[in-house]
Amino acid sequence: MTTRVDAAWARRWITLAAADVASHRDYLIDLDRAIGDGDHGENMDRGFSAALAALESAEGASIADVLKTVAKTLMSTVGGAAGPLYGTAFLRASKAAAGGEELDGAGVAAVIAGALEGIQARGKATTGEKTMVDAWSPACEAARAAAAAGGDASAVLEAAATAAEAGARATEPLRATKGRASYLGERSIGHLDPGAVSTSLILRAAARAAAGQESA
Ligand code: ADP
Ligand code: MG
Repeated sequence: MTTRVDAAWARRWITLAAADVASHRDYLIDLDRAIGDGDHGENMDRGFSAALAALESAEGASIADVLKTVAKTLMSTVGGAAGPLYGTAFLRASKAAAGGEELDGAGVAAVIAGALEGIQARGKATTGEKTMVDAWSPACEAARAAAAAGGDASAVLEAAATAAEAGARATEPLRATKGRASYLGERSIGHLDPGAVSTSLILRAAARAAAGQESA
């Protein structure tokens, strides 16, 4: 368990996230094929493997540097709606992490809050619209609550990941009112939102990186 997280954690996070996105590539494609255009798995896999490659050659020594490199890479390599949304999320997360070598529970909660703010500034979605906001928003609330209860970085990330997973599952009965899935209207009901599912993978990777687990 890790009380505070550092730049090595941020790098482990992206390494684990890239591996999880790659192993769930076809699953994310299937989810997006049901209510979108089927490119989400490919988009995310391309973006996270590019982010990993960019980090390997980046000097960046701080958490903020790592997250900024990820943000820039996602914006330039991921097409569709998800690229700018995740790019803005990581950019705001990087800003929230600026100025410190390490983050405690409250610091990690602030990074997650930054990501949610970025997604909402960019995509204008609120909860219940069947988007990635339905995973990020409960994650942010759970992270804040865990930090307020005195949780360390690891506990806050665990709470966030668990809440994101529940949030993603809860998108199934929702009718999409934002993004490509909204074109389906009632027919978007009964499917998981791909972006909410990819969010839950990414936040679970963050928690595993802090818990010192190198694989699932
Ligand atoms: P596209 O929809 O352009 O094909 P992707 O398939 O990569 O892009 O991403 C789709 C995901 O993006 C959706 O599952 C949803 O979670 C997310 N999304 C779409 N529009 C928005 C929005 N306005 N706000 C938040 N998330 C959104
Ligand atoms: Mg798509």
